[in-house]
Amino acid sequence: MFFVFGISTKEKEIDFTQTTICSSCSSYGRYEVFMTYTHFSLFFIPIIKWNKKYYVKTTCCNSLYTIDSELGRAIERGEKTTINESNLNPINVNNTKDHHCPSCNYKLSPDYEYCPNCGRKVEL
Ligand SMILES: [Zn+2]
Ligand SMILES: [Zn+2]
Repeated sequence: MFFVFGISTKEKEIDFTQTTICSSCSSYGRYEVFMTYTHFSLFFIPIIKWNKKYYVKTTCCNSLYTIDSELGRAIERGEKTTINESNLNPINVNNTKDHHCPSCNYKLSPDYEYCPNCGRKVEL
């Protein structure tokens, strides 16, 4: 008798996106949700999943957050469709504050009120 078993960590993207104005880079971005979990498999059949963790990533600056598993599960089941900033626990927030002019994409410093390249007023 011999068993083939393994423990591995998987990552799964959850079919969820939410448009947002990013709190770290002030540009339009999207929240994308994914989860990681560890599973134990026997004969390549997953038996137990545990250690589920849910993450949110922003598409604008690739900031990474965790959300609590209750909210994550609700999103995974498609029950909850809104993530609030207060739900996000930052892990790796891109705080460079670099952002770009919405009309000409010129790179701006956060204290610019007007784009030096095209003169458009910049909403901060
Ligand atoms: Zn951002
Ligand atoms: Zn501009």
